[in-house]
Amino acid sequence: MSVGEIEKLVNCISRLPGMGFRSAMRTVVHLLKRKHTVMNHLIKSLTDVFENVKECGICGNIDVKSTCFICLDKKRDFSTLCVVSDISDLWAIERTGFYRGRYHVLGGKLSAIDGVRPEDLNITRLYRRVCESEDSDDEAIREVIIAMSADLDGQTTMFFVKDKLKELSVKITTLSHGVPIGSDLEGLDDGTLIAAFKHRHSF
Ligand SMILES: [Zn+2]
Repeated sequence: MSVGEIEKLVNCISRLPGMGFRSAMRTVVHLLKRKHTVMNHLIKSLTDVFENVKECGICGNIDVKSTCFICLDKKRDFSTLCVVSDISDLWAIERTGFYRGRYHVLGGKLSAIDGVRPEDLNITRLYRRVCESEDSDDEAIREVIIAMSADLDGQTTMFFVKDKLKELSVKITTLSHGVPIGSDLEGLDDGTLIAAFKHRHSF
């Protein structure tokens, strides 16, 4: 191994969210000093996740099974579907323990700058899911809560999804304006997130 391999690792880590070049360097030095403990565990965890984690075929969450534990849970409220941009938002909402419905993960937000188009997101699958549920007596989706961040991309995505579902009979709501502008849901404290859900409204 040459220093080139270490540079490659630093570059790789520096491209992770929230990481810059200096943090990546510090991380790599930390790992090299603890090669047989921290680095070894990290390699094992990454390999386990890489090999075993799958995307849920229904909602886009991740689990070790092809249908996630939320979609399999019969105690969840089938009539409410919360649309989020990413799995990290789903985790943030789950962490509060307040919401007991199910989810639909879009896999990102529409973005002109980043070149994310409607066909790059799970929007067609969402439409089909809501549409097909309308024929079911006990599992019909009655409310879709579009839970997006309050930044431009989040709001653009929210209105696009609303427009896609407008011909269906489902009620469409969004989180209250308590969500601070520019905030990602995952960055909100539990109290703010619960209040935003409680005071959700049609739009
Ligand atoms: Zn699922």
